[in-house]
Amino acid sequence: MTSILRVALDVPLPKLFDYRANGATRDDIGRRVLVPFGKKRVVGVIVEVAAKSAISDHRLRAAEKILRDMPPLASEWLALAEFCAGYYHYPLGQVVMAALPPRLRTAKPIPDAPVVYVLTPAGKDALAELSARQKRRRALLGRLASGPASMVELSAHGAGASALLRPCIESGWVTAAEAPRTAPRFVAAHTLTPEQQQTFEAMRGGLSGFGVRLLYGITGSGKTEVYLCLIAQVLERGRQALVLVPEIALTPALETAFRARFPGAHIAIQTSAMAELARARGWLDAQSGRADIVLGTRLAAFAPLPRLGVIVVDEEQDASFKQQEGLRYSARDVAIVRARSAGVPVVLCSATPSLESFHHAQSGKYALSRLTRRAIEEAALPVIRLIDTRNETPRDGIASRLADALAARLARGEQALVFLNRRGYAPVLACPACDWVSGCRRCSAHLVVHLGEKLLRCHHCGLAVPIPRTCPQCGNTDLQAFGRGTQRIETALAERFPGANVLRIDSDAARGRGKLEDLLQRAARADILVGTQILAKGHHFERLTLVGVLGADSGLFSGDYRASERTFAQLQQVAGRSGRAKLPGEVLIQTRYPHHALYRSLVNHDFTGFAGNLLAERRVAGFPPFVFEAALRAESRDAHRALRFLQEALAHAPKERASITLFDPAPMSLARLAGLERAQMLLQSGSRPRLQAFLHAWSEWLHAAPAHGVRWHLDVDPIEF
Ligand code: ADP
Ligand code: ZN
Ligand code: ZN
Repeated sequence: MTSILRVALDVPLPKLFDYRANGATRDDIGRRVLVPFGKKRVVGVIVEVAAKSAISDHRLRAAEKILRDMPPLASEWLALAEFCAGYYHYPLGQVVMAALPPRLRTAKPIPDAPVVYVLTPAGKDALAELSARQKRRRALLGRLASGPASMVELSAHGAGASALLRPCIESGWVTAAEAPRTAPRFVAAHTLTPEQQQTFEAMRGGLSGFGVRLLYGITGSGKTEVYLCLIAQVLERGRQALVLVPEIALTPALETAFRARFPGAHIAIQTSAMAELARARGWLDAQSGRADIVLGTRLAAFAPLPRLGVIVVDEEQDASFKQQEGLRYSARDVAIVRARSAGVPVVLCSATPSLESFHHAQSGKYALSRLTRRAIEEAALPVIRLIDTRNETPRDGIASRLADALAARLARGEQALVFLNRRGYAPVLACPACDWVSGCRRCSAHLVVHLGEKLLRCHHCGLAVPIPRTCPQCGNTDLQAFGRGTQRIETALAERFPGANVLRIDSDAARGRGKLEDLLQRAARADILVGTQILAKGHHFERLTLVGVLGADSGLFSGDYRASERTFAQLQQVAGRSGRAKLPGEVLIQTRYPHHALYRSLVNHDFTGFAGNLLAERRVAGFPPFVFEAALRAESRDAHRALRFLQEALAHAPKERASITLFDPAPMSLARLAGLERAQMLLQSGSRPRLQAFLHAWSEWLHAAPAHGVRWHLDVDPIEF
């Protein structure tokens, strides 16, 4: 019998697409399907199976193939996608396809689940008789004699494992078997401190239903330890745990820690950096319920979890949880929505919570657990001091007090970190004879000097050009690099401390697969680390007792009302790298504004007071969390067109605007990006449902509006302007 498939496709239209199919049933809802679309063939997801279509018969095309190589997406998963489509005003098809791992957006078959290789009794005999010269084969069979192993594990023992294995299988020495399920265990590495124990018990008490809890603890207070214990409880009850971490270097270290603490548990990693097939496999393991723990970055918020028992969002304030293109979702918020519909708790962890979460915890909407002491008794919080650079002029960017402190660490064999959140050699090249500066021709931004590569690079669009020898404007041969980036500081430190092992870790140094892991390994032996925010979080360096902070003032006077919140979080995080083990830590911050409230709070380790002040300011000024925001943005090669589109949109905005404030269209703070002029219009409302209703009505006009070379999108709960 012919039925109609209603298919979600990755097409920027807020509708489903109908196709004919023979023999499809309601059981196919949630399955992927290969369909013709225009001249192409694309994969979509079946959202409904109907008897009739509004499209006339002769225009209705036939689906090519329903892909039945994986189980259908569960109705809860589709419901989550529908929620996101509604809340973020983004086409359902694009939500569904964005939430699937890339491999599953194609019709490429998924190879069978990996197997383990087992040594047979014949193999055992053969091993005993192998000659000593057959070293590699002996090593391989020897490994299998100690227990079954997967191809990944065998490859870790030496290259060419699959070629070695083939003849062994043909000879009947080795067989492939389905990987056995092992019961997850938990290794309790520490006795919880009384504070941790109390927090843990409160959380365990909440495991039976939905609730949001903010776990607000100073750096090193053992937040991770507490949520690991909670996850152990969840696994013991036969449920799955979802752990979301920021899009940074955190995942490999955390993965190692998870594997060590949960032997036998099946841990699926989900990050954008991993190979396609591995990501799809992890996702399928989550879907089948085989994975006990899913650990990943924001995209893991969409991992299917039939036995979900708890969600943990670590460093919940981190901006990387908000996607900045396509489906502009907040993984933290999606996690909360998900937890609510699954009826499970969600734990938000941070030493510097987002003001939104902090506010909800204070108002009682979220439960609050506080950890106020460092877990390791000897590890006191670092002492934070300010160096007033108006009085102590830095040499090559380093004030003498910081240089002395660095020298003292070198003398004691301790480690120091110089933190500067600006990579490259210098932020701009300029001509002192005229007014030329190195601007990017595609963005409203400066090109950054990368001396080692002899390039000027745009950090926004990636444009790279050779460093000019002479001024393009006046011919002057004496161009100067102004300001300092990590490369320049690295050079200055190497000159100042010739015997020291100086290591720079930023995204330039870490470019390439495995490069960051490699650098982090070497970091343990370095005397002075120079790094950007890539080093600010998560890492634990035993000997690190000094953090020097340069260039922090740039975060104080930004037009973005979130800048100071972020600066505080970042500085506190980087300060927390110091003195985490037995040695006491010190933090020296170079600033021209030592009396700024942000620094005063930081010196006193007073996030609560700082957040209280910021919240009071936001309440008066009418910013989130006291209002809800959305932005309509337009991009075009032509700045006027972008603005005109927004003005048109404003003219056609729904008339029902009680409690909605519409601000005038204006260029974005980075007005030109990669050749596109960008403008936006901000909307605010004290009522989320009203803002949502307004956006819903408006997007109908937006989707139908003539494009005229303009691309637009809505950003709900925007964090960048
Ligand atoms: P946070 O996530 O709050 O920054 P971590 O969970 O990383 O803190 O813990 C900081 C350090 O303290 C880690 O080395 C951890 O192993 C250790 N630690 C945590 N809890 C305890 C405990 N109860 N006893 C001893 N050491 C602990
Ligand atoms: Zn010039
Ligand atoms: Zn650029």
